[in-house]
Amino acid sequence: MVLSNATVMKGHTLVKEPVYVDEQGLISDNPDVGGGEIDCNKCLVMPGLVNCHGHTAMTLLRSVGAGLPLQRWLEEAIFPLEAKMRPEDIAAGMTWGAMEMLSGGTTMVADMYDFPEAGAKALAASGMKGNLCRVGLAFSDTEEVPPNRLKECIDFVVAHPEGGKIVGDFCIHSEYLTKPKFCTAMAEANKVFQRPVHVHVSETEKEHQECIKRHGKTPIRYLADMGLLDYGGYAAHCVWVTDDDLKIMRDKRVTLVHNPTSNLKLGSGIAPIVRAKELGVNVALGTDGCASNDNLNMFEEMHLAGLLAKGSTRNPAALSVWDLIDMATINGAKALGREDTGVIAPGKQADLIVIDLKKPHLYPVNDIASLVVNSMQASDVIMTIVGGQVVYNRGVFKHVDVWQARENLDRCLKSVHSSST
Ligand SMILES: [Zn+2]
Repeated sequence: MVLSNATVMKGHTLVKEPVYVDEQGLISDNPDVGGGEIDCNKCLVMPGLVNCHGHTAMTLLRSVGAGLPLQRWLEEAIFPLEAKMRPEDIAAGMTWGAMEMLSGGTTMVADMYDFPEAGAKALAASGMKGNLCRVGLAFSDTEEVPPNRLKECIDFVVAHPEGGKIVGDFCIHSEYLTKPKFCTAMAEANKVFQRPVHVHVSETEKEHQECIKRHGKTPIRYLADMGLLDYGGYAAHCVWVTDDDLKIMRDKRVTLVHNPTSNLKLGSGIAPIVRAKELGVNVALGTDGCASNDNLNMFEEMHLAGLLAKGSTRNPAALSVWDLIDMATINGAKALGREDTGVIAPGKQADLIVIDLKKPHLYPVNDIASLVVNSMQASDVIMTIVGGQVVYNRGVFKHVDVWQARENLDRCLKSVHSSST
């Protein structure tokens, strides 16, 4: 396949040259690839976006619990509904969320939710890539809750090895929902697999301070001392992390996943991403679940991350537009151990998006990188390509029957929201 006549984002430069995609779905420098030509005149071709922290099936709970602070939001609004979710609900919510992401230019997601096998199947069927996990949870140190949880975490990692469209990672929900014995056991198990760990860290001041009271150390220090970060990881939120925490994250190759919309909506604060970058921490972006967002729009996260960084440091040069594009693309790919994607270069996976530049809000084109961060909307994406396959093209999903997906979602919504009030 050849994408012709486009402006192409190659690293931090913009070039007018074709993108060749070979039969293996890799970007090639050989013009003799088959598969036809796609005319991308007056379009931008850039790497697909990587949503580095989500609970995609929470599309079923869009906008639920608005106005509540995190702990009450979780306990009063979210947990009671999640307790009613079955694998088919997760699948329906995942498919619906994948549609939103694919049509908005996201090609890969790091997802943390219940029934990950059902989620993984639905995500793979949509054509998207993802790093998923069985959530590590243990409310008590004397028994595993629910039973066999650690085994399920390990089984999921074994079932989804590196290199596939769906990769299994380890996950600790958070310091506050996972007792030390479980954390130690997971760290021990990961010595075999050496996978990065997906975790919520220091999202609220209360969580951060309570961890210090409980253990005499911050959540990041605690997780590092447990051995959970020995093979890297991606830590969502990190709103209250200290300089020492950031240095640990840098040294342990733990990515700070910034979720600006979610952190603002729940009143959690603003993560110190400028300081993190100064100290050499990899920073990526995520939407979080869409009950705390209320969409899965990575263009919005890029835009907001830039504004917050500049406003909170009172420095308009705090982050460049290229820093923000990297956070939404290659930094996310790195965080998930996906060094084969996130950038347009020969030999990399063809995970690409095509954006229509003929819209009023995208013209005149004085600075494309600035347009991407500050002007573009998810709805400007007209084509999404994953692993060399066109999976979304001008409103049409190659692998998802939209009406069937809506019917499934409506059926699940009825069941999840029934007798909840
Ligand atoms: Zn989250």
